[in-house]
Amino acid sequence: MTRIAVLGATGSIGRQALEVIAANPELELAAASSGSTPIEGLAPLTQVGGDLTELLERADPEIVLNAVVGFAGVRATMWALERGVTLALANKESLVAAGELAVAAWRRGGGALLPVDSEHSAAFQCLEGRAPATVDALVLTASGGPFRGRSRAELEDVTVEEALAHPTWSMGPKITIDSATLANKGLELIEAHFLFDLPYDRIEVVVHPTSIVHALVRFRDGAAFAHVGYPDMRVPISFALTYPERAATPLPQLDLASGVTLEFHAPDLETFPLPALARDAGERGGTYPCAFNAANEVAVQAFLDGRIGFLDIARLVEDVLVRVDGAPARDLGELVESDRRARELVPVAVGEGRA
Ligand code: NAD
Ligand code: MG
Repeated sequence: MTRIAVLGATGSIGRQALEVIAANPELELAAASSGSTPIEGLAPLTQVGGDLTELLERADPEIVLNAVVGFAGVRATMWALERGVTLALANKESLVAAGELAVAAWRRGGGALLPVDSEHSAAFQCLEGRAPATVDALVLTASGGPFRGRSRAELEDVTVEEALAHPTWSMGPKITIDSATLANKGLELIEAHFLFDLPYDRIEVVVHPTSIVHALVRFRDGAAFAHVGYPDMRVPISFALTYPERAATPLPQLDLASGVTLEFHAPDLETFPLPALARDAGERGGTYPCAFNAANEVAVQAFLDGRIGFLDIARLVEDVLVRVDGAPARDLGELVESDRRARELVPVAVGEGRA
């Protein structure tokens, strides 16, 4: 039996993880948390809000599935990495923000860091056991979101409802907006850099509307491996929770003969500037990725609340990145401080966002 703590158990990833755990007699739900929804009785130990590391200390899990949304997941990520407890990581924002600190904690702890993000789970499986030096490039696929093919002028007045209508994945509201702006691919670039120790110039993004190819790795000898499957987060969740066993799942098998469309094209970075801003923040290093994430979180919430327009999200993030100092954080305390300062730089009081 593997004892699992599911953080963010009421969310999109969390609920699918509970399903995977319930269907597998080898997996045991030891603890569960939510941000605010009551979850008493869901697991032997539960916690609503508060410091997630307190729950983890009590639960002493073998695997932490971090499915919290946003920077709020950072302490749990650091807790698991530092202790060498297997971390199944959906909460990409924590790795993006903590970056070097998280990698250092991972090295010290010596445990496994198994990505749950579909592209990174795919890349992990394509890369497994091969040195970064053998890699020509990692290619992350993006569906392109609901606004693929539109011009900036056509995005000026899109509604929250339109932005929430993702074509291929059903997910929580924050990542759904990130998929519409392509900020999600920006976060994923930085996530891939830290997970796989690849320089940014060897991580590419390509738009692939049907989300069948989750990632592709080109090797230096000219071979390229792709990971393919229907878009279903229960696959990467199950992979991470049962690694390296690849437990059976009841999910439909890929049926190529029934018709699968594989189409790829370059992302439109003029219309969707956030991946380029993320790449730049990643290359600059220090706390620039933390600031990118913080500004994006605040801007996305303001958009969801109807306080700013869709295009303001990228404008606000760009503006914050010019104003932060980006100095590296020496510890978690300094990182939390950088996150807070970047948030304060986002002018999202009513009316202020629309420049
Ligand atoms: P969601 O909004 O559906 O769920 C978020 C969960 O986190 C909820 O249980 C909520 O109660 C909890 N939470 C929110 N704020 C909290 C706080 N301050 N403290 C503690 N808990 C808090 O989000 P989601 O779509 O499940 O995404 C979760 C994470 O997984 C995100 O980082 C997202 O980027 C990543 N991810 C999600 C998907 C997906 O298909 N949904 C795919 C890839 C990666
Ligand atoms: Mg992803």
